[in-house]
Amino acid sequence: MHVLVCGGTGCKASQSELIKKNFQNQLEERGLDQDVQVIHTGCFGFCEQGPIVKIQPDNTFYVGVTPEDSREIVEEHLIKGRKVERLLYTDPTTLGQITESKNMDFYKKQVRVALRNCGFINPENIEEYIGNNGYAALGKCLEELSPEQAIQTIIDSGLRGRGGGGFPTGLKWDITRKVEHEQKYVVCNADEGDPGAFMDRSILEGDPHTVIEAMAICGYCIGANKGLVYIRAEYPLAIQRLKTALRQARQYGLLGQNILGTDFDFDIEIRYGAGAFVCGEETALIHSMEGKRGEPTFKPPFPSQEGYLGKPTNVNNVETFANVPPIITKGAEWFSSIGTEKSKGTKVFALAGKINNVGLIEVPMGTTLREVIYDIGGGIKNGKEFKSVQTGGPSGGCLTKAFLDTPIDYDNLLAAGSMMGSGGMIVMDEDDCMVSIAKFYLEFTLDESCGKCTPCRIGNKRLHEILEKITEGKGTPEDLTKLRMLSHVIKDSSLCGLGQTSPNPVLSTLDNFMHEYEAHINDST
Ligand code: SF4
Repeated sequence: MHVLVCGGTGCKASQSELIKKNFQNQLEERGLDQDVQVIHTGCFGFCEQGPIVKIQPDNTFYVGVTPEDSREIVEEHLIKGRKVERLLYTDPTTLGQITESKNMDFYKKQVRVALRNCGFINPENIEEYIGNNGYAALGKCLEELSPEQAIQTIIDSGLRGRGGGGFPTGLKWDITRKVEHEQKYVVCNADEGDPGAFMDRSILEGDPHTVIEAMAICGYCIGANKGLVYIRAEYPLAIQRLKTALRQARQYGLLGQNILGTDFDFDIEIRYGAGAFVCGEETALIHSMEGKRGEPTFKPPFPSQEGYLGKPTNVNNVETFANVPPIITKGAEWFSSIGTEKSKGTKVFALAGKINNVGLIEVPMGTTLREVIYDIGGGIKNGKEFKSVQTGGPSGGCLTKAFLDTPIDYDNLLAAGSMMGSGGMIVMDEDDCMVSIAKFYLEFTLDESCGKCTPCRIGNKRLHEILEKITEGKGTPEDLTKLRMLSHVIKDSSLCGLGQTSPNPVLSTLDNFMHEYEAHINDST
């Protein structure tokens, strides 16, 4: 029997460390510590209901568990076989208690590919990863597939970069493979910077080996023997688990020289980011890793041609890598059967804001915003009206009710005036002022602009001043024209993605919530 205690950052902040310790003490006192294992897993995703404890093999899902509850769960459930009803999840619609996660609305429509092991295995035990088909994809590549065949599998799967750009992953690998050089690099971008987003952190905390395995596969495919994970220094738990996983992978001969008895050598180092949002952009990230100022540069040359230390470098983000091992083991056809015509597979989103079920979810591409917000997210907090959802992070767009039935994929979100981004999803209700929301996001990008190019550095400052004027009740109708014109200038003339997308919240709120801008201006006249 196993007691799985969520060991993600969210539940750890709510004493899950102590909950685990109390379970161990209770079991020891009763001489049950040899029969029942207590394990810290990665995040279960249902953060709103944390701390979460799952009892296996009967799948009982306890929510809102406190350190004091461990005694009752041990005595009632583990010894007497009676579930502790007050800790079961209560379905808000029927007010009935649900014992298993698979029956909860929060999980029913989810399909877990990148998050498949989060909440299921102990991320600090490589044997649990291996026991769940871990490193089978690397073994298959080294034993059965040439680099070209493995890349073709990734191309055929339709996997696109999950960091926001949506560039076809297999094509990127193929381009880097074809650049001839004796030294190439694989870089994992774990510099997650969107407000409210924690997709990459959760994957690294809950399943670090999947990223290591995918980076090794990428190294084999492109001809690189060195990998680097660029991770925010503010992610201490993810760093600790990644370090443990790297050490274990080396011990098991899955990193280092002659991996699995072949002539393939590959190892991974960690580089720390200091929390600059712009360092998520791949050229800025590479500069930061080189010890230079984290500023983007013009492309071309692309990192696949001249990247880290001037050598060909393939950069993918954490979630992209997490999809690779199951694509190799289950096949391109399996992966491409999930999702929409041009956006294959699933996408992880961090649900935040005025939504009942705050947490981390993974859904097939093509799931509608309505399904995400109402079926999985449980609707709007305190029975309020939905007003808007911001997708794509601080430089995405604010979408209205009219887009609730839009199937989520790269192209539909762009057509709707927003974007996929890395997966942040922030929900706003009837009480939120959309002009203030646009100002808030602009403040973020203004703070995070590296200042290298004038449109982004100065243009966003001017945009912010106009928004401030409007929210202070001093705006004029001409300000609305200026906002729109300046936004387009910034979009068209900024050097990198940060500047090119920074006016999106302004433009989307002008498009969708003009009446709120007008109300501020009319109040002032
Ligand atoms: Fe820096 Fe902004 Fe220019 Fe990007 S667009 S290079 S963040 S100033």
